[in-house]
Amino acid sequence: MIETLADTAAPSNDVVCALAPVGLLAELTHRCPLQCPYCSNPVALEKTASDLPTEIWLDVMRQAADLGVLQLHLSGGEPLLRPDLEQIVEQASKSGLYTNLITSAATLTRERLSALADLGLDHVQISMQDANAANSDRLGGAKNGHAKKLEAATWVKDIGLALTINAPVHRQNVDNLAAIIAMAEQLGAGRVEVAHVQYYGWALVNRAALMPTREQVMRSIEVVAAARKRLAGRMLIDFVAPDYFAHRPKPCMGGWGRGSMNVTPSGKVLPCHAAESIPGLVFDNVRTRRLRDIWLNGQAFQQYRGTAWMKEPCQSCELKEVDWGGCRCQAMMIAGDAAAADPACGKSPLHDRMQTFALRDPAAADAPLVLRNYRSAAELAG
Ligand code: SF4
Ligand code: SF4
Repeated sequence: MIETLADTAAPSNDVVCALAPVGLLAELTHRCPLQCPYCSNPVALEKTASDLPTEIWLDVMRQAADLGVLQLHLSGGEPLLRPDLEQIVEQASKSGLYTNLITSAATLTRERLSALADLGLDHVQISMQDANAANSDRLGGAKNGHAKKLEAATWVKDIGLALTINAPVHRQNVDNLAAIIAMAEQLGAGRVEVAHVQYYGWALVNRAALMPTREQVMRSIEVVAAARKRLAGRMLIDFVAPDYFAHRPKPCMGGWGRGSMNVTPSGKVLPCHAAESIPGLVFDNVRTRRLRDIWLNGQAFQQYRGTAWMKEPCQSCELKEVDWGGCRCQAMMIAGDAAAADPACGKSPLHDRMQTFALRDPAAADAPLVLRNYRSAAELAG
């Protein structure tokens, strides 16, 4: 059993040791007024009845700070639907965590935002579906959601909080990418996150309807490059390229169990938001085990931490401590083996399979969107 956080020692190839996590994503509830068809929540949404009570979340905040977590991302679903959000923000702030509210903003009021800022909230990340209001409301499945988001972004700036605009892009909005970046600029965001949708969970269900064409992907890269040049020093643009068109995988989560952890609404602690798609992992719960012990010794965290678990071609690859073999969930999904190289990698024998999906899916122009809600979740569960 490992009992020390290796924050004073360099990571080793031989010993599976853990640095303190930088970030903790707290999914406070899976309820949400929006229904985005690419939502990163699992398709099996957790029921409200199993949501953690306030006192456990407050203790999780204290434990996270003790463990060395620096950044707390309050997410969901929609974290604003928790009436105790104020208490959670206050405790997190008192514990010394940098607090980031990730919200659809659909139910936000200026008064509530102001109160949260007074309690220590540092940063707000508003998710946008498009720059075009009609398409935005169609994709989010909520009337007037877009107008509400624009208004909320102005409150964030007025109140003096840091603002990020988060815009997942896919075939049904990526042609508006330049307008999305311009919208973030107009709103005074310090950062815009333009992430090509990653095909897990709801996005996987909707992959045929969301997969961009190769031309769209290439154009999006050009748009981002031009915007970065124009906005250098004024607005940071984080860009996540689509795996299905890549030759090397991204270092998913910065490496499994290396820098961040997720706590689900019911208290399960995951190395990444899609980890439940991997059979055989054991997810401990904050109701029954301390966060520090879960991070250091939990089976799900140890399983793919470091490099000892890797097979070829990763084991002998010079990039294994750069991308950490890519994404375990994608390896599971495409290769049927979570310890395989991420098929996004050109060295994977299954790389061509991803390319096949990337060419085939955009041809399915009429694929209907399955909106993310509890009814769809029940239908998908059969
Ligand atoms: S992606 Fe959309 S549906 Fe999912 S939590 Fe965010 S706002 Fe809600
Ligand atoms: S072989 Fe493995 S470690 Fe090497 S680049 Fe590909 S995914 Fe990364």
